Amino acid sequence: MRMRPKVSVVGAGNVGASVAQYTVEKELADVVLVDIIKGLPHGKALDLLHAGPIHGYDSQLIGSNDYGPTGESDIVVITAGLARKPGMSRDDLLFKNAEIMGAVVDQVAARSPSAILIVVANPLDAMTYLAWKKSGFPTERVVGMAGILDSARFRTFVALELGVSVENVSAFVLGGHGDTMVPLPRYCTVAGIPITELLSKEQIDAIVDRTRHGGAEIVNLLKAGGAYYAPGAAVTEMIEAILKNKKKILPCATYLNGEYGIKGLYVGVPVKLGRGGVEQVIEVKLRPEEQAAFEKSAESVRELVKKLKL
Ligand code: NAD
Repeated sequence: MRMRPKVSVVGAGNVGASVAQYTVEKELADVVLVDIIKGLPHGKALDLLHAGPIHGYDSQLIGSNDYGPTGESDIVVITAGLARKPGMSRDDLLFKNAEIMGAVVDQVAARSPSAILIVVANPLDAMTYLAWKKSGFPTERVVGMAGILDSARFRTFVALELGVSVENVSAFVLGGHGDTMVPLPRYCTVAGIPITELLSKEQIDAIVDRTRHGGAEIVNLLKAGGAYYAPGAAVTEMIEAILKNKKKILPCATYLNGEYGIKGLYVGVPVKLGRGGVEQVIEVKLRPEEQAAFEKSAESVRELVKKLKL
């Protein structure tokens, strides 16, 4: 009898391993790690299994170079792909990662036709669109992770600036996962108080700018590869919201069908995540300058998707 849900994580690199770690630490599911590198997913799965007695989890972990063990997954997280190096933009990864994404989706969609796909590989919004197209899944079961990470970075910087708990800070960031993302300061609050009441325009502008370049800041520090702890935590929050049917409102890359004036594109907006995947797109009223920034961001996603010639 299968007791726990199954989460497969394709790409057992930095982000994939963090997702696996946080998922079993919360005992949300059993985890299958898949990668093309021989031994890598097996080694990481076994190592994480050995941490179980210490952390107190009974979640099972399996590593594999093929997709057999992923069958009938509840959720498949796709991190497989190249990560950025210093000087590279997320968009520079487009064609190589599209090739990988296409191959991975063919494999997982056939074996887990009822799964929810969480896409992580960059450029995120275009890769999520590709995964949706390739899988043939309904839009509510294909979603991309980016906004939770971008919002978490924003929240961290606000908390640091004000010297308050990160738990008091909520934020949201709209748009594509790239330099055109749109952090919305007036929807960012500290214990319910908008940050526009607590911070000067200069302070907020500096936080917005650091959030926009938060990924690049880490790539420049690490030199080889990008961020993975916070991305892993962000994916795990989505997994938890889905498996526990929490109906949590989180910013995610989702298919827009006219909402926010955008049609036929994956872009980041707040959604309600539950057992059905994206159960609702939450529309907030934007001011003209915010709408313009959002449309500019969506346009840059559309340009990338066009290049994929799907
Ligand atoms: P990584 O290099 O550490 O791991 C990627 C893994 O994918 C590697 O182990 C590689 O062997 C594997 N892989 C490559 N091709 C594969 C295939 N065809 N099948 C199975 N596995 C395959 O990179 P990472 O730091 O984990 O980042 C992974 C991706 O996630 C990158 O594209 C990165 O830009 C992206 N990312 C996105 C976000 C976000 O907010 N959406 C955040 C961080 C990273």
